[in-house]
Amino acid sequence: MRPARALIDLSALRHNYQLARETTGAKALAVIKADAYGHGAVRVAQALEAQADGFAVACIEEALELRQAGICAPILLLEGFFEADELPLIVEHDFWCVVHSLWQLDAIEQTIVGKPLNIWLKMDSGMHRVGVHPADYESAYKRLLASEKVAKVVLMTHFARADELGSARTDEQVAIFQSAREGLSAEVSLRNSPGVMGWPNVPSDWVRPGIMLYGATPFDQPQSVADRLQPVMTLESKVICVRELPAGEPVGYGGAFVTDRNMRIGVVAMGYADGYPRQAPTGTPVMIDGHRSQLLGRVSMDMLCVDLTHVPAAGVGSRVELWGKNVLASDVATHAGTIPYQIFCNLKRVPRLYSGD
Ligand SMILES: *Cc1c(COP(=O)(O)O)cnc(C)c1O
Repeated sequence: MRPARALIDLSALRHNYQLARETTGAKALAVIKADAYGHGAVRVAQALEAQADGFAVACIEEALELRQAGICAPILLLEGFFEADELPLIVEHDFWCVVHSLWQLDAIEQTIVGKPLNIWLKMDSGMHRVGVHPADYESAYKRLLASEKVAKVVLMTHFARADELGSARTDEQVAIFQSAREGLSAEVSLRNSPGVMGWPNVPSDWVRPGIMLYGATPFDQPQSVADRLQPVMTLESKVICVRELPAGEPVGYGGAFVTDRNMRIGVVAMGYADGYPRQAPTGTPVMIDGHRSQLLGRVSMDMLCVDLTHVPAAGVGSRVELWGKNVLASDVATHAGTIPYQIFCNLKRVPRLYSGD
């Protein structure tokens, strides 16, 4: 059997969820959209259900998958509905629903919903992606209440730059949000993972941690909460072939790496078809039988090459950690010019094996 696989440590996941709650003292919706950032939404939801205040996903398709797997906890649809004809299902399954645009408000007013909805009214406090304009926010809130189709409204917004700890933008967004919601007495939800970890003074009834649940930091600098996260996913495989090469020999497609001395090169069963980033350059860290080493040359679809020169005991069958508890996914992401979010979401083909249930 091909040795490539992703090990998912569910006890680390629970630790990280608890850390989000303890850090903020708030209720926390575990964000498990995009198949729990590649970790498997159903298994992640099952592992967290006993402790989680609820879950958040991107769309009704993701939410239905969870309900069909027997998850009874609250589930928030982070983009609400895309078409008004989703409303009956939202009611039937008790999904909580973001309203980010006035057309959604119109649709709620015009549709018989049967049972009052739990709405999270999103404000555009400065990210300028989705959200109701601050000037329209109070009237949107009042329209929702007047429609008698809502049981409860939570006031929410989303940060554009909370991962930049030195940026003034997050405080500006909070100020815009607070001024536009003045006088509206409802629960609030502002913080994503970087907000939870790096912005302690933001008001929070509910927080929405995503990436931190999976044990990766959203920051590109050391940070105290980040130090306490436990990586959840370990992507590993094995060395399947060893080459001894003299100096001056090209390795892999394009000859993108050329040996600069006598070298031992290990070929690993892992490639970009598994989600390992093709953009990762020579020098990207890997761990071989517990020794730090590096990627060499271009990543292929099913294989990649690593340096075994200084790991003489390593050979065919040696275990390689591509990311996990030793090689941080955020470090691999930095080398590859991307972010750990995308590293995780790209995972495919490899079987996921769960532990810590
Ligand atoms: C994805 C998402 C989150 C989670 O973001 P992280 O940075 O992964 O914590 C929170 N809120 C909203 C609205 C989102 O879309």
